[in-house]
Formats: sequence, structure tokens, C-alpha cells
Amino acid sequence: MSSAAPPLPASYPARVQPAVICNLIDGCFRPARGGATTVAQNPATNQMIATVPDSTAHDVNEAVAAASRAFPEWSARPADERAALLMRLADLVERDLDAFALAESENTGKPLALARSLDVPRSIANLRHFAHAVMEDRTRLFEQELPQGSMQSTVLRKPLGVAACISPWNLPLYLFTWKIAPALAAGCTVVGKPSEVTPVTAWMLSQRMVDAGFPAGVCNVVHGRGPLAGAALVAQPDVACITFTGGTLTGESIARSAAGSFKRTALELGGSNAAIVCADAANDAHLPATVDALVRAMFTNQGQVCHCASRILIERSCWDRLVPALVERTRALRIGDPLDATTDFGSLISAAHLLRVASMVNAAVGDGARVLCGGERIPADALPERVRSGAFYAPTLLQDVSVDSNANQEEIFGPVATLIPFSTDAEAIRIANGTKYGLSATVWTRDDERAMRLSRALTVGTVWINGWMMRDLRVPIGGFRCSGIGREGGMDALHFFAEPMVVVRRTGG
Ligand code: NAD
Repeated sequence: MSSAAPPLPASYPARVQPAVICNLIDGCFRPARGGATTVAQNPATNQMIATVPDSTAHDVNEAVAAASRAFPEWSARPADERAALLMRLADLVERDLDAFALAESENTGKPLALARSLDVPRSIANLRHFAHAVMEDRTRLFEQELPQGSMQSTVLRKPLGVAACISPWNLPLYLFTWKIAPALAAGCTVVGKPSEVTPVTAWMLSQRMVDAGFPAGVCNVVHGRGPLAGAALVAQPDVACITFTGGTLTGESIARSAAGSFKRTALELGGSNAAIVCADAANDAHLPATVDALVRAMFTNQGQVCHCASRILIERSCWDRLVPALVERTRALRIGDPLDATTDFGSLISAAHLLRVASMVNAAVGDGARVLCGGERIPADALPERVRSGAFYAPTLLQDVSVDSNANQEEIFGPVATLIPFSTDAEAIRIANGTKYGLSATVWTRDDERAMRLSRALTVGTVWINGWMMRDLRVPIGGFRCSGIGREGGMDALHFFAEPMVVVRRTGG
């Protein structure tokens, strides 16, 4: 990952104080109307780190009403004023980068170093990116001469109204800001619903929004469970559009609920992403770099990134060189306390998620898979004392897994990858494209023509060649098939939140 953040301070407090999280509705911090709460935990220690409003339709309705009231004034503001507020918010997050990173690590079990170098810097970049992008979004003018005179057509973009922004737990602040920033920049008002599993940094962000001076009602944050608060938000008739990132099944239920009222919907869903490794990527000159990058692509954030490579397709002629090197590098990952600066690999998001990952691995083994490394929960006595009760599962490489099995066809969303040999490019493409998903893929070869040929044949939203997760925020990102509908990033994201409208003027004759 990017190493833009400064080095870790010598010591961090062992944990953040448990937070009492509130909703931000109409500029005020409030508990859920009924007073109900859930708890958020640190999955590395099992400690409770926050109480979270268990919001219902009642809270959602109040937030949507506030956002509806704020919409006329906010959407009419000049874009530079909206952009200035986003820039101010970015500055406040940057000022408090260490506090945000610590909270993100504590709430997810991810290494603090990753939260400091990826999650929080990228959240700041999201806010700044869309502040700049809206200033570059030019009104388009078309002039045409006609026999009777001339006309000028102006394409305006009218913000849609109240945007529902629903985000998952794996990159909490990163994906929450990735949604609210373009919505606010485009002139929509927002009701955000962060994951109930990882609400802490969205809560901190909502406090900075008030400090930054966002007007009441422009950006509301409602915490709560998906089937209760999330479903109520999706069904709310005054919501104009929904941007959702999360699981494919949840996406399906959101698409059904939104269809009846024709809400515009963008869905960023799951994946089962192939890496195609050609033999030349494993020659003497390139093997170490390929192995390092592949291990990063498989196991960053404990494999809980939607773009993680989970099916590693290896050209047969380099199998015997590459596979032992991958196993050795995977075994060398430093697993441990997320707050330790040397830790590469932390806890999964929860004990329940660990059981799901383990059951998929066990099923593959039951069907004849060979475990090359990992394949089990890390024993408590192999972990530092502070994190012995955490949800640590060893990074796992499997061989001899049928391409049609669940482990290859379904999203595991954990630290598990299958190694699959291929003989021809046609076979590699067939396997890579042979799932219901189409999110992303990687291709590993220094042969540029072969890399482009393979890339063009893949049915995925993004292909990375000789790398992974290199992101230019101006380009569209999203998935084919069950990996989603619509694109985020750059102008695609801004334009999602607005409807084009044409004004035609007679200019002569
Ligand atoms: P999830 O679908 O369980 O939850 C995501 C969000 O939706 C949460 O805020 C949740 O509360 C809410 N939600 C749940 N049920 C809802 C409902 N019925 N109506 C409205 N909202 C509801 O996903 P998760 O477990 O938090 O995240 C993991 C999933 O996210 C994985 O499948 C992963 O691939 C996917 N993901 C995709 C991308 C991408 O860009 N394509 C990025 C990150 C994560």
C-alpha cells in the first residue's frame, strides 16, 4: 500500500475509550428515537468500543426530512462553496489522522499501519478529489446553424435530491467518504448509513462536519442495522438515489426495493477476482517482485478488500518456481497485534466471519483441496497476549480446488486464495471469466501485447497489469454482472448524483 503517511509514533494508547455514538440529524447529535443501541467491538481483542444507535424508520424519516429541507439551498449554492466545505472537512480529518487511524484499526482489527497509510489518507483524498472535480465539471454548450437562424443548447446537471449512501465494514471511512463526497459536491444532500459493525470513524467524521460548518441537514448520518435502518432508508419515498457498497445479496434486495419507485441506484458488490500469472513474471528477474505484489493482492486487510485476488491462475511452466515462493512469502507475513507497527496481518472483522471463512476452507478440503499453508485459526498461544481472543485466521493457499467449487465460485472475502494451473491463454480467460462476478482481475507479464490481449478478453470492471489497487481517482471503477451496476470515481460519480437537463435557446434569425 501507499506509504505516504509519516512513520508510526513510538507508542499508542492501548485502546480508544468506548464511544457513545449518536446519529447526526438536522445538525444535532441524537440517540435513536427509541433509545435502543447495539455495540461495536474490536475484533482483535473482543473489547466493546462503542454503543451504536439502533435506528429505525422513525430516525431515517427524520433524517430524510432534514435532508429534503436542506436540499434547495444546498443545491443552489455555487459549486466553489460546496467544494470549500469539503476541503475544510478534509483538513480536519488530516489534522486528526492519528485518531482516525487508531479508531479504524480498533474497530476493524486491521493493522494500524494500514489504516494510517491507506484508509485515512485515501478518505482525505476522496474529499479533496471531488471538491476539485466539481470545479472542473464544465457546462456543455452546443451551437448549431439552422436555415432559419441558429440555436444554442446548454446541458445543465440538476442534482437529484436526497442521496442515500450505504457503506460496508471493510474500508469504513474510505468507502463512506467515497460516496458522500461526490454526492455533496454534486449538490445533493445526504443521509449516510455506515456499517453497524464499524461505525466509529463515520461518527468522528460527523463531528468534524459540524466543526467544518456544513449547514444543518446537508449531511445526516444515521447508524443502525442494515435490515432495519438500511432497508428503511432504501424504501423511503423521498430518497432520490441510492449508492450502495456491500454484499451481492444485499445489493439484490436493495435493487428490488428501489425498483418500485425508480430510484437511481449504483451497486458496488462482491467479486471472485482472478490473477493470471504468465511464466515470464516468475523468471529470475521478476519472481521476487511478482511474489511480493501477489501476496499483497491476496492478503491486504486480511483478504477483506473486494478487489483482493482470490483465484491465482498460474501458467503450468512456472508452477514449480512460483508456488513454493508464494507459500514461503505468505508464511513470512507478520501476524499479530494490529497496533504493533511491524504487523502486516491483523484480525478478521468478527468471530462469525472467521467461522464462515473456515467453513468454506473446510468444505474445499472435504472436496479434496490441499492446504499449502494456513487453513486454520491462529492458536491463541501463538498471538500476543492482548489479542489472544481475537478473530485471527492464517493466510491460506489452497491447491487442487475444482474451478466449479464454492471456493472458486463464491466470494470468500477472507485470507484465502486458490492456486489453479493453466496451459493456454484461452484456458486462463475461460477460468477467469467463469464466475457470476466481474469486479476486477490482475495480469502478470512483461509482454505488453499479451497483457493487453488478456486484459481485453476479461469481463471485469478493472484490470491491473503487474500491480494491484493502483488507483487514479478520476477513472470509473465498478463491476460487471453480479459485481454491480454503475461506476464510481471521477465524473462518473459526480454525474450519478445529477440528471442532465437541456435548455435550448434560439440565438439568431
Ligand atoms: P453488507 O451487504 O452486509 O452490508 C453493507 C451495508 O449495507 C451495511 O451498511 C449494512 O448495514 C447495509 N445493509 C445490510 N442489509 C441491508 C438492507 N436490506 N437494506 C439496506 N442496507 C442494508 O456487506 P458487508 O458485509 O458490510 O461488506 C462486505 C461486502 O462488501 C463484500 O461482499 C464485499 O465484496 C463488498 N464490497 C464491495 C466493494 C466494491 O467496490 N465492489 C467494496 C467493498 C466491499
